[in-house]
Amino acid sequence: MIGLNRFGDLDWRIMLFSKFFAYTSKEDPSDAKIVSHRLMLRAGMISQTAAGIYCWLPLAVRVIEKIIQIICEEQDKIGANRVYFTTIQPAELWRESGRYDAYGKEMLRIKDRKDGDFLYSPTNEEQATDVFRRYVKSYRGLPTMLYQIHWKFRDEIRPRFGVMRGREFLMKDGYSFDIDFESAKLTYEKVFISYIRTFRRMGLTPIPVQADSGAIGGNMSHEFQILANTGESTLYYDKALLSASDEELLTTFAVADEKYNPKDTPVSKNDLMVSKGIEVGHVFYFGTRYSKAMNTFVLDKNGQEIFPEMGSYGIGVSRLIAAIIEASHDDRGIIWPDAVAPFYATILNLHTKNDSCRTVADEIYRAISSKKEVLYDDRNITVGEKLADADLIGIPWQIVVGQKKVEDGVVELKNRKTGKVLEMTPNAIVERFLR
Ligand code: ATP
Ligand code: MG
Repeated sequence: MIGLNRFGDLDWRIMLFSKFFAYTSKEDPSDAKIVSHRLMLRAGMISQTAAGIYCWLPLAVRVIEKIIQIICEEQDKIGANRVYFTTIQPAELWRESGRYDAYGKEMLRIKDRKDGDFLYSPTNEEQATDVFRRYVKSYRGLPTMLYQIHWKFRDEIRPRFGVMRGREFLMKDGYSFDIDFESAKLTYEKVFISYIRTFRRMGLTPIPVQADSGAIGGNMSHEFQILANTGESTLYYDKALLSASDEELLTTFAVADEKYNPKDTPVSKNDLMVSKGIEVGHVFYFGTRYSKAMNTFVLDKNGQEIFPEMGSYGIGVSRLIAAIIEASHDDRGIIWPDAVAPFYATILNLHTKNDSCRTVADEIYRAISSKKEVLYDDRNITVGEKLADADLIGIPWQIVVGQKKVEDGVVELKNRKTGKVLEMTPNAIVERFLR
């Protein structure tokens, strides 16, 4: 067998299914109401530990890492700085902003041993402002943007649909500081466009709906929605949106739920689309709300004290995984877009006890695993189970090594999405994946 050294350890690159912690199941879990929840449970991606609180297992972790990588690359391009704020915050910060009492029961409040008031972060505006004010004293430090990818806790009244509405969930949250409204608007638009690119890179079609934030921001609040029948929101949008450029999206008409008013909709009936959507992101300008409340100012060019103009920008990373599955699956399982797939390819050795199959599968694995992430299914299970699991888990490419074909000198390459199967020699497969 491939990859064992004389100590019986596996080569570090070896990703054998027999050693991989992914326990699949054929049965549909009875309490899972939407397809992403069912498929995540059946593929062994998540394990529930309490209502709305989940452990994330290796397949899911690999998807999370892909999403994080894309987010970080796009944040880098707009000059955002990655940090870790804390999950536990002192109540004091929230008393300063006035939100400690206002936040309500979604906030998990905690006492430390000295009877001090703490909380588990549902969001981090106060803390971002606090970090900012400790360091930035002058206009020269602006604009600036801090973001993190970290766990949040909100004691949702009705956690449901698996990780879609959890109580503990992973979020990318960013906070921006600008010297004036003009500059804040530019920052907002930069983040907006970068979010569109981020979601598109994940194989999604984001619909940015205007989420009017009231008087201060005008229309500087958008939610990013992904189309899916199981979405909680109803979206009303201009058909033109589906082919609009990144920048045009800033002003193309789209609203959700009660924001829709048929009487003053700037889109003709023929061009109005109505669909269900899942909110996966939110960008929001709120001016000096926190900088003022928390007495956070910088000196401008003239030595005047100025309260920075702020915005915050969230992506629901853990919800995104469910949303991607809602948008990309069939009746056999998940269909991962390449960019976020836990592995790029899977080798299915259908006859593990057959020497020729094993030799061929081992060789293919050895040749391509240095270049591509591959899960090698070496488990001793039936052909039917192996094929069904591959479709369930949804890795984009399946390299199927079966006895009959191997005797003919070929293996099969199946595309999970299209279902198309090509017969190729092992060498041609290797070449195809090393390209
Ligand atoms: P919702 O209206 O769905 O409760 P929100 O307005 O409370 O969302 P934000 O505070 O803007 O959400 O958080 C940013 C992103 O975090 C949201 O766009 C969403 O994708 C995600 N998110 C919010 N609440 C949850 C949750 N309970 N479980 C999973 N993801 C969540
Ligand atoms: Mg909420």
